[in-house]
Amino acid sequence: MILKPKKVTTKFEYPLDPDNQTMASYEAPIYSRDYKGDPRAQILPATTLFQYPFPKGTAIRCDQSFDGLNSSISESDRTHTGLEAFAVDFSMPIGTQVCAAREGIVVEVISNFADYSQDPYSPIESDKGRENKIKILHSDNTYSTYAHIKQNSSRVTVGRKVAIGDIICLSGHNGYSTGPHLHFEVSKSNDEGKFQTLEFSFNDGHGNPITPQVGTSYTRI
Ligand SMILES: [Zn+2]
Repeated sequence: MILKPKKVTTKFEYPLDPDNQTMASYEAPIYSRDYKGDPRAQILPATTLFQYPFPKGTAIRCDQSFDGLNSSISESDRTHTGLEAFAVDFSMPIGTQVCAAREGIVVEVISNFADYSQDPYSPIESDKGRENKIKILHSDNTYSTYAHIKQNSSRVTVGRKVAIGDIICLSGHNGYSTGPHLHFEVSKSNDEGKFQTLEFSFNDGHGNPITPQVGTSYTRI
């Protein structure tokens, strides 16, 4: 027997232009966490820029960015490959506030895994998948994921609406993690029901698109 996912529809609003003069609304289906989403999803509008997922005024270094665009990372240290190719790692001490990079609805919260005290830590294969995370569904059926977050630090629950900039949790160091950091990615479900990351840009604070570069620090203004 195939169970259909529970469906609730929520209205989202988003600006059609950078000056927020024209707002558009969008009815998005919100499913249970077992629902894997829409393989046709793409970031809409295409000009959408994501806010840095950390508090204002703190310089945060990018330690890994989109695979292939950052050859400074040795092949063996790259984890952002394949389906994870367009993920970003920001180095930050455990307990740094994590802020929503885009509005949406929380569809998954995992926060029961303990953080490592060792830094650096050498993760092993079995640490994969044992990371805490929050996943947020956007109006275009894409998702943002915040991973390796601190144990029991989530300030949101499944079904909760978040606005851009809301503090959703604290950063941590668990799962397949070599040191305290936040892993951030935007994804959609692919045809096999797996999450596949999508290329996206951050907002430099002035409406200009930024692709993070390894070794560069970014400050949210
Ligand atoms: Zn990562």
